[in-house]
Amino acid sequence: MEAIITIWISIIGAIMGSFLGCMGYRIPNKIKTTYPSSFCSYCKKPLKWYMNIPILSYIFLHGKCKYCHKKIGIIYFIVEVLGFILFGLNYYLYKFNINFFISTILTCVLIVTIVSDFEYYYISDRVLIISAFCLIITYIVFLPKTDIYMRLISAVVLFLFMMGIKILGNNMFETESLGDGDIKLMAVLGLSLGLINSFISLFFAALIALIFSLITLKKNKEHIIPFGPFLIIGALIVIYFSPIINPVVEKLL
Ligand SMILES: [Zn+2]
Repeated sequence: MEAIITIWISIIGAIMGSFLGCMGYRIPNKIKTTYPSSFCSYCKKPLKWYMNIPILSYIFLHGKCKYCHKKIGIIYFIVEVLGFILFGLNYYLYKFNINFFISTILTCVLIVTIVSDFEYYYISDRVLIISAFCLIITYIVFLPKTDIYMRLISAVVLFLFMMGIKILGNNMFETESLGDGDIKLMAVLGLSLGLINSFISLFFAALIALIFSLITLKKNKEHIIPFGPFLIIGALIVIYFSPIINPVVEKLL
């Protein structure tokens, strides 16, 4: 029975991956989220239902539009697969406890942000506000009031900390060091993780972003790295590896 539920949740994850990936394209391009229905971003022709099946359509159409044969960005396929895997993993690990909701909300933010930040260097305020709202509802259901206050304080501290880093970085390098979207996103991650875990997640985010930038050094001529997706991946790592990380943190404190 558990296996069947996990597969169903994975399928919902792939559908969400397809929908949210599309939002990651529409929001920065100022296209309404509800209208028109899915279309090819090159020839603008509306897609038939069978061209809209997450993961499978991309494979059967060989990653190309059926009408104009232009390549569909692999990023849309990646986020659908990511939705499938992470939704399933979240349920497999947590069933329906608080961590399922936190990690699934972050998975959704990750999917939109991968598309919007990698393609357009854009992190949507709307997505951050909706995710913060969903997190707070989750906390009201699962956590005592004092814990909710602690998470809210953590969000404010992380926001101010990132602001400080930005001001420092801008002065040191005399260029825009950190996007405003990254700062607001970190406030949402502060809300998700609490204070100490947020700083641990920042460490992972910086490490993975560094490895990524070294790998893509030759290709990436502008030397701009969208930091948003890495921040969220760092947060998910902290959640997934909390059974290992938490005892270490407790020993150190
Ligand atoms: Zn087309």
